Amino acid sequence: MLNIGCHLSVSQGFENMGKQAMELGGNTFQFFTRNPRGGKAKEIDKADTDALIIFMKKNNFAKILAHAPYTLNPCSGNERTREFAFETMSDDLKRMEYLPNNMYNFHPGSHVGQGVEKGIELIAEVLNDVLWEDMSTTVLLETMAGKGSEIGSKFEELKAIIDRVELKDKLGVCLDTCHVFDGGYDIKDNLENVLEEFDKIIGIERLKALHLNDSKNPLASHKDRHEKIGEGYIGIKAFERIVTHPILKNLPCFLETPNELAGYKKEIELLKSF
Ligand code: FE
Ligand code: FE
Ligand code: ZN
Repeated sequence: MLNIGCHLSVSQGFENMGKQAMELGGNTFQFFTRNPRGGKAKEIDKADTDALIIFMKKNNFAKILAHAPYTLNPCSGNERTREFAFETMSDDLKRMEYLPNNMYNFHPGSHVGQGVEKGIELIAEVLNDVLWEDMSTTVLLETMAGKGSEIGSKFEELKAIIDRVELKDKLGVCLDTCHVFDGGYDIKDNLENVLEEFDKIIGIERLKALHLNDSKNPLASHKDRHEKIGEGYIGIKAFERIVTHPILKNLPCFLETPNELAGYKKEIELLKSF
């Protein structure tokens, strides 16, 4: 069975996100840990996180995915901005222990002119500062579109970050279909080769989750504009191959398509039908 869900609003509370995911036909979901533009997160209500844990168990949920604010930049040239990234991730990861054994995804960041090499060093530095031995969360680096000076649009860059982190067993990768396609990996006509390359460079065992998004732009556009499943340049046939692929079919998948809840429900139904 496909493990699938979509991005939901955390403001309704944790147990309610679980219920909403199920109403939409899913068995997992993604949420922002706080306002995506940053700012303070709401106090954790332990009764609510405990209720979600019970709900997920009862309904055979797959692991859920928390998404860091996308404005966070661990490899900024500005020290205060890097500190903010450290403080936010550190706080998020402590809070994630209320929902143990799930996953936390972040955008590696933009080197803003300092160069890829320097950016990779700074990202690894933040990771080395926020990870700890006994944490239960797996931290995922998201594959990026390569917009501006974004790091992570090449598998080699993600590998170079992982290589510099001491607690490597806490790390994984979330493959965003729109982003990799934007980055020049042809998952539409050459899925097999892309997965081979991922395996050769990063190691396929690091692949822990998928973001399922079609793309408003052709291969290698570096634009990062998500489209509804089947309405973009990746197309429905490719998504059928992705969600039924032996290596991918058991990974938790998260929709981040431009949709309201009804649209998500339809996409979940469609993808489950393959
Ligand atoms: Fe993302
Ligand atoms: Fe994504
Ligand atoms: Zn995106």
